[in-house]
This record gives sequence, structure tokens and C-alpha cells, in this order.
Amino acid sequence: GQCVAVCPTGALVERSYIDEVWKELENEEKHVVVQTAPAVRVALAEEFGYEPGTISTGKLVGALKLMGFDKVFDTNFGADLTIMEEATEFKERLENGGFLPMLTSCCPGWVKFIEHQFPDLLEMPSSAKSPQQMFGAIAKSYYAQKNDIDPKKITVVSIMPCLAKKYEAAREEINASPEYRDVDYVLTTRELAKMIKEAGINFKAVPEREYDSPLGESTGAAAIFGRTGGVAEAALRTAYEWITGNELKEVEFEQLHGYESIRVAEVEINGKKLRVGVAYGLGNARKLLEDVQSGKIDLHLIEIMACPGGCVGGGGQPYHHGDFNVIKKRIEALNVVDKSKIIRKSHENPSIVRLYNEYLEKPGSEKSHQLLHTHYVQREWL
Ligand code: SF4
Repeated sequence: GQCVAVCPTGALVERSYIDEVWKELENEEKHVVVQTAPAVRVALAEEFGYEPGTISTGKLVGALKLMGFDKVFDTNFGADLTIMEEATEFKERLENGGFLPMLTSCCPGWVKFIEHQFPDLLEMPSSAKSPQQMFGAIAKSYYAQKNDIDPKKITVVSIMPCLAKKYEAAREEINASPEYRDVDYVLTTRELAKMIKEAGINFKAVPEREYDSPLGESTGAAAIFGRTGGVAEAALRTAYEWITGNELKEVEFEQLHGYESIRVAEVEINGKKLRVGVAYGLGNARKLLEDVQSGKIDLHLIEIMACPGGCVGGGGQPYHHGDFNVIKKRIEALNVVDKSKIIRKSHENPSIVRLYNEYLEKPGSEKSHQLLHTHYVQREWL
């Protein structure tokens, strides 16, 4: 996969935790919750003979329930939360002369690359943790407290399109508590398919189910995290409203759609032209960053994803055998998920609003920083 060149050891990344997860599911002492990344729902079905681009959210949730997870939640909830923190940081940097451009930080393949290759640019990435990590931190704090469960008895399992997410969950400085990890086990989309088969579940016949509440509720903005340009677009949907104070009526930023591996878009907010760079693939990321460093281009926001087309093309997804049409179909499917949602802006997710009212106070608060932010460190090659 894409991340082979940036991961510390093949073993850490490739390691499968299927057996450990089965054991956790059998352990009655444990409250085992699972979160599913945006890109998983538009690719998993391929492992069971469906066409690329099939949206199988209901069956994905149904299968996880049959496997015995206590709660089936959604990384998309974490994605909405990431936007709350990231858009707050972006607005602050814009208004208070902070460090620009701001880089999105939800792709660990990319974050590790910048730590190794551009150690002088570590101020650039947003300090907001990725949706996976934010979800885990909230599951073991807010959710644990609300339901009176000892966080040490909660096991958080992630289903990710990604190999580097295993490494991300193991980053020491990313965890909100020194006593336990935000995320205990990361499985890839392919590993989940394997488990479904191992359990003898007939995926085609699985009844469709809905995510549990409240960490299963999400918006259209969260869905597009799985495709190139989507994180930037989701951030702008919120930042636009927060900066202008006006309602954003046309939520799609057409300039941020598309399949080219490096794109630059201009978006007008309050009469100011914001330039947004989008790239996927680490070679393209390097090119874009070098142009920023040399002053060749001037950008305010940059979204970089290591994998082709974004997470839909991740190294843990069903193999696409180099066929970019498969990736395009998954991207189109995520856009359909976005369009099908009544709420398409992260800050309008009612469960997110409640989380801030009941627990975090406001984006960028001390509590938010303690749970939802991280920092970056220069790393040497191992
Ligand atoms: Fe993982 Fe997505 Fe980054 Fe690929 S683009 S390394 S799947 S987070």
C-alpha cells in the first residue's frame, strides 16, 4: 500500500488484530464499541460480490451487530467533531495572523511523512486529532461518564480503509489519557470482511440496521471525509458560516470536487479570496509543499491524503487493482451519501451540539484541547 514508505515497521502496520477482537467480543466484562470510517461503507460490499460504489451502510451496521458489538457507532461522528475543532483553529489562524497555510491532519500516512520530511513545517498541520482518535477519546470520556461505564472496561475497535491508522492509534502522544488508548484495535475493511466470513454471516442476507445513538449520528459533511477534497469542503461549509455569520445555501464547493491529484481552488469568504490546495499521493504532497515553501504558490488551507482519491483508495480497502474507475465509483457513492443527508454541515449535527453543551463547552476549550488535540514531532527513519 501507499504507506509502506512512511511506516516505522511493516510489522506494526500489517499486524492483524482479528483474534484479539474476537476475544474482546467474547469477554463479558468488556463493553466493546466499534466505529466505521466513511470510506468503508462504499467499499466493503465489493468483498461480497457487489459492484464498486455500492453503498452498504445498513448491512455493515447489521453485520457488526450480529458479530456481537455492544454499540455500533460511526467515525463520521468523529469527523463532524474534527470539523468543529479544525474550523475553529482555521478561523483563529485567519483572523489573528496565525500560521498559514493550515494543513489538515486526519491522514496519518501524511502526518508521518511531514514529520520525517518537513520537520521545519510542523506548525502547519492543524492540532486537531483525526476523526478516529477523537471518536475514541469521546467514547472513553463523555460516553463512558454518561452511561456510567469505567473507561478501562470500554474497548474501542475501528474499521478503517487504512493501514496507517494502526500506527496512528499507537502514537503515544495522541492519546487523551496516559492510562489507556483512545482506540484499542484497528481493523481494515478487508479484515472486517474476513471476520464476517469467519463468523459464517451471509452478508447478502444481513438485515439493514441503523447506527446507535449518540455517537452514530453524522452529517453529509462527514461522509465526504473519505474522498479527496472532502475534508477541505467540510471545513469550509462550517468556516464559511462562522466567519461570515451568514447561512451557506449552496453547500457544495464544486471547485473542491474532481479527481486530479493536485488541485487549487479559490473560495470567496467575506470578500476575501481563500486559496485551497488539495493533493493526494505523497509525491504530489511533496510537490505542493515545496511550491509553498519556495513561495511559488500562496495558500490558506491544504488538504493532503496519502492514498489515490483519498481514503476510498486506502491500503486496507478491497483491492482495486490499479483501476481508478473503482475509486471514482466509491467517490461518487460518498457524494450520494452526502446528498442524502438532511443535515450537511458538521456544526448542525444535534449530537455534536449536545456534546459541546453537556461536556466540552465550546470548540477550542480547555477540555476540547485535552481530549481532541495533539502535537507533532520530528521523527527519524527507523
Ligand atoms: Fe489512511 Fe486515508 Fe491517509 Fe490513506 S488517505 S493513509 S486511507 S488516512
